[in-house]
Amino acid sequence: ETKLSRKGEWGFFNSGMDARLVETLRMESLLRNAIANNELQLYYQPIIDAKNSELVKVEALIRWNSPVLGWVSPAIFIPLAEQSELIIDIGSWVLKEAVEQASRWKKLDVNAPVISINVSVKQFVSREFEQLLFTTLEAHTVQTNQIELELTETLFANDQGELSSLLKRLYEAGFGLSLDDFGTGYSSLSYLSKFNLTTVKIDRSFISGLEIDDRSHSLVRAIIAMGHSLGLKVVAEGVETSAQSRILIAEECDYLQGYLFGKPAPSDTFFQLD
Ligand code: C2E
Ligand code: MG
Ligand code: MG
Ligand code: MG
Repeated sequence: ETKLSRKGEWGFFNSGMDARLVETLRMESLLRNAIANNELQLYYQPIIDAKNSELVKVEALIRWNSPVLGWVSPAIFIPLAEQSELIIDIGSWVLKEAVEQASRWKKLDVNAPVISINVSVKQFVSREFEQLLFTTLEAHTVQTNQIELELTETLFANDQGELSSLLKRLYEAGFGLSLDDFGTGYSSLSYLSKFNLTTVKIDRSFISGLEIDDRSHSLVRAIIAMGHSLGLKVVAEGVETSAQSRILIAEECDYLQGYLFGKPAPSDTFFQLD
């Protein structure tokens, strides 16, 4: 008998099953209660304009501080949540939280940064997403141009035409739409030209090689040129050194993001309320 019992007898699981699976199941059950228990938080990381170093955008990045497990990286729990419907609840929570933040910042400062939100494929293609997006913005009187959605290319791998019309509607409504982690997967050039996008984010793995590796430099140069020729803005992720920053500015990259300019941090570290 290797089937999972819904009754959940831990002694039984531990004896026969892979310890990692047990750990995963435990994490998933803790994650299920994380929203209700207020264990999730959004941090924000600055994205600056390469021309004048002004803060123009922030990326919202989820954080989970579990009283049982401590801090768990989103690189661990987001893929876990994506295996079930849990990602829908988490994604809806992120959207609401980020839009509320956009509204608070807008009240403080007319030049409030755009908030860029990571959206999982499952969330983006879910029936409720578009409606939820518009009603959430409306409820908090946030304009579409204050919000950007970060999508990954797995979304485009099996387009059914519906996806491309959804992207078109969001694009025409004024949302920023960016392709995240460009260069890591299939990175088909056709995705960039076929779909309505505004921005491409070059993956950190290319930026970290910039100073030492000619191939990374050539690739980054090619992505920037290609992005621009398609009318897209280009963001470099994971900029950690001033040498990388200088190269990216020389290559006319539009926006820079990375520890050099700031790590992800709670919202109150951006604008001081005094
Ligand atoms: P991502 O969207 O590519 O986010 C960028 C990641 O790079 C973040 O990791 C950020 O903290 C990290 N990073 C930024 N600058 C630097 C740098 O200079 N050096 C280094 N070493 N790292 C840098 P984080 O916050 O751990 O998030 C990991 C991934 O989890 C994200 O990758 C994204 O795919 C996912 N994620 C995070 N928040 C959310 C969310 O709210 N919803 C969804 N669906 N996914 C999220
Ligand atoms: Mg992202
Ligand atoms: Mg990214
Ligand atoms: Mg990345």
